[in-house]
Amino acid sequence: MEPAEGPSSGQVHMCQTIFPAHATHRGELSAGQLLKWIDTTACLAAEKHAGVSCVTASVDDIQFEETARVGQIIIIKAKVNRAFTTSMEVYLKPVKLLSPQDHLEHSLAIERRRIRLDHEHVFETLTQESNMEDYHCDNVSNTEEDTISTDLTHVQSIELVLPPHANHHGNTFGGQIMAWMETVATISASRLCHSYPILKSVDMFKFRGPSTVGDRLVFKAIVNNTFQKSVEVGVRVEAYNCEEWTIGQARHINSAFLIFNAVNDKGELLIFPRVKPTTKDGLRRYHGAIARRRIRLTRKYILSNKEDTPSSDLWDRSNQAYLSYSNVATLTVLATKCGWEITSTLDNIKIFTQEESDILSVKVEMQVRIPSNLAFFLLSDFRLRRQWDKHYLTCEVVENVNEDEKIYHITSPSVKGDKPKDFVVLVSRRQPCKTGDPYIIAVRSVTLTSVPPSPNYRRNEILCAGFLIHSDGNHSCMVSYFNQVTSGVLPYLAANLIGSSKSIEDTASACIRFLEMDSTKIYSILF
Ligand code: ADP
Repeated sequence: MEPAEGPSSGQVHMCQTIFPAHATHRGELSAGQLLKWIDTTACLAAEKHAGVSCVTASVDDIQFEETARVGQIIIIKAKVNRAFTTSMEVYLKPVKLLSPQDHLEHSLAIERRRIRLDHEHVFETLTQESNMEDYHCDNVSNTEEDTISTDLTHVQSIELVLPPHANHHGNTFGGQIMAWMETVATISASRLCHSYPILKSVDMFKFRGPSTVGDRLVFKAIVNNTFQKSVEVGVRVEAYNCEEWTIGQARHINSAFLIFNAVNDKGELLIFPRVKPTTKDGLRRYHGAIARRRIRLTRKYILSNKEDTPSSDLWDRSNQAYLSYSNVATLTVLATKCGWEITSTLDNIKIFTQEESDILSVKVEMQVRIPSNLAFFLLSDFRLRRQWDKHYLTCEVVENVNEDEKIYHITSPSVKGDKPKDFVVLVSRRQPCKTGDPYIIAVRSVTLTSVPPSPNYRRNEILCAGFLIHSDGNHSCMVSYFNQVTSGVLPYLAANLIGSSKSIEDTASACIRFLEMDSTKIYSILF
């Protein structure tokens, strides 16, 4: 519940009583109305932060958990998470300034932005892949009998933007556009369930350009795919002014994907029929919906902190975006956790541990006398790690995904006659967006079909590990190394905590010596 005092600086709270005009025929607050209120509150928070008039540029990942009813009062809370140069992220949740949660949201905002910017590239790749898949499984999708053609779900509507739909500059409110989108999407989904669909979440509203009073907005909706108890409806909004209208020249304003459930009279979730796309675009969107669902589920997992996740997901190009996201996000979550206990301290090395059910995490802080950007380049190339980490015997790049994402195969030497270990890890690195932010190098295991486990090695899994590098000025930085240890290794470590602290200290000292090597050697490595 809302504490008695008002919002702190940078936050905006809005209270509304739900009247029948805001509700559906069932007396529940309509999702469209809620989107309008959310948008207004977010805009006000952005304006409070920036001191100029703001418009919504994009919205991603809204989850609708509860239903509010006529007569109830709803409180909407907005706060600016992070300001980029020309855009801001606003999240609708009250957070104390400078809490660990604050830092977490702050850095996840960067990852969400990355996904937003990456989105088109990922889906381009997906299109090519889905076309290939379609080529191979053409007969499978077309011979299914109980599938329904997506053509039946095609809905189109037109709205004229009037002054009450716009701000004082005449720009249409983003929330108003979202509310109109929700209306057409609901009708589209209802064609498949013959009942009243309930909006569960919204993925990726991208506002591409402004629309103003006098525009005609055309909303086109169609079902892209169904997943048992949910359906994804895509909506595309195009705008015309009077002149463009006569020559049929549209401006693409916005696209969004809305996910609905449907319930029967008893409130039980209904199963949606499977759908069959009929056009090439339809097929592309059918596969796009599958990819978006994967990204959605992963984010949900990360934010809910479930423990029973498979430690090593299969790497393929279609889930690249979400594996990279989860890699960076999981490390960020670990770094901001509370309850780190210091277990060992030297002048320039501090070791901390943190226990949570069957997971033990280790953090090693190292004070290093080199600039942070150099530490980042030296630590993010894992082929150099053999020079300081004796646990690395060999390390080769097995997939050079792009400049910031690489997959390595690593082997470790045998200890006391045990079978040597090997790892296949994804290393995702990120440069800071702003001064004060850390460099991030996140590491997690992935499963790569081209590097299966071999009888010569015991395959090991890394849940979450990596480095955060904070600059301490021009010539020094703080390198924090994190590693999450799974239950299998925990008893061994607990029994040897003193011994392993010593070995961690030795490795950390070697790491510092490596980073502080003389500059001629560094240049010979870099160039
Ligand atoms: P994409 O086709 O890559 O999904 P668009 O912005 O063109 O991106 O469209 C967004 C969504 O709007 C589509 O996924 C689809 O569900 C819906 N849509 C687009 N064009 C039409 C159309 N002509 N008729 C009905 N729905 C459409």
